[in-house]
Amino acid sequence: MSASIDNAPAAAYVTGEGSPLRTSSSRCAALARTAGRELVHEEVIPVRSGAAWHVPAGHVCRFTTIEGPQVLDLNIWHRDDPRERFWAARTRQFHGAHVTVGDRLWSTLPFLRPLATVVADSIGYEIDEHGAGCHDLLGTRCDPYANQLLSGTVYDFHCHSNLVRAVLPYGLTEFDVHDVINLFQVTGLRPDDERYFMKSSPARPGDHFELFAETDLLMAASTCPGGDLSAPLWGPGSDAEPRRNPIKIEVFRLSDEVLHGWAPSARVGYRGAGSLRHGLREPAPGAAEARPLTAEA
Ligand code: ZN
Repeated sequence: MSASIDNAPAAAYVTGEGSPLRTSSSRCAALARTAGRELVHEEVIPVRSGAAWHVPAGHVCRFTTIEGPQVLDLNIWHRDDPRERFWAARTRQFHGAHVTVGDRLWSTLPFLRPLATVVADSIGYEIDEHGAGCHDLLGTRCDPYANQLLSGTVYDFHCHSNLVRAVLPYGLTEFDVHDVINLFQVTGLRPDDERYFMKSSPARPGDHFELFAETDLLMAASTCPGGDLSAPLWGPGSDAEPRRNPIKIEVFRLSDEVLHGWAPSARVGYRGAGSLRHGLREPAPGAAEARPLTAEA
């Protein structure tokens, strides 16, 4: 664990008591209880491949590194409207560059609702001596375009391609694939030049990460061909073989008792009309700049 820095600026987005971003630890613990769960879907994603599946609202999706370390690149959409999808950058602003229990994965504008909440994370990595953390929001998926640019070779099993093939049966295309959350992946920015780095995944057999679906979701994931990222993807050393392992996906229905008092997340109240209500310049003197939602009824 890195030492705290004196006089560090305060976080821009407050996640303390009373913040709408906050999820209580007791609530997460209740949602993570395995007793009373009913398994409704199970599949294993083999190495260097992809899968897509539904997670109904109020269900938990568990990701398990069943045989050993492996990075998983995850995309999330609202099940009924794929224009609403996971927004990695805003999630990073709200919660940090790496997420764990209590953090939520947020959707894009004009929706901005929590798609899912992290309720279990057996990795418990915290922030290490290099400023790195696990479950990465700094990077994105590996892709064949950057690969061609950097290596001059053609490779069709990068995470981007695996995700594209996985979502085709759901009516989505390459243009729906978006910035991922990299589960079980340790990353950081070098302190001297802020360049992105990756470390070997610390996941052991049986490690798991759980997302509670706050609304109806479509998920897609790729078992990264970089495996546990123990070998460089490009440049010196990239001819070495990383450890690659499958990942198990399980979806559980929770008991009525656990879900008592819970309701699916709603998109934020702002209706977006403000962009049209005003001209391109700042408001005229005396014009309302902020008004309660009730005034628009
Ligand atoms: Zn990848």
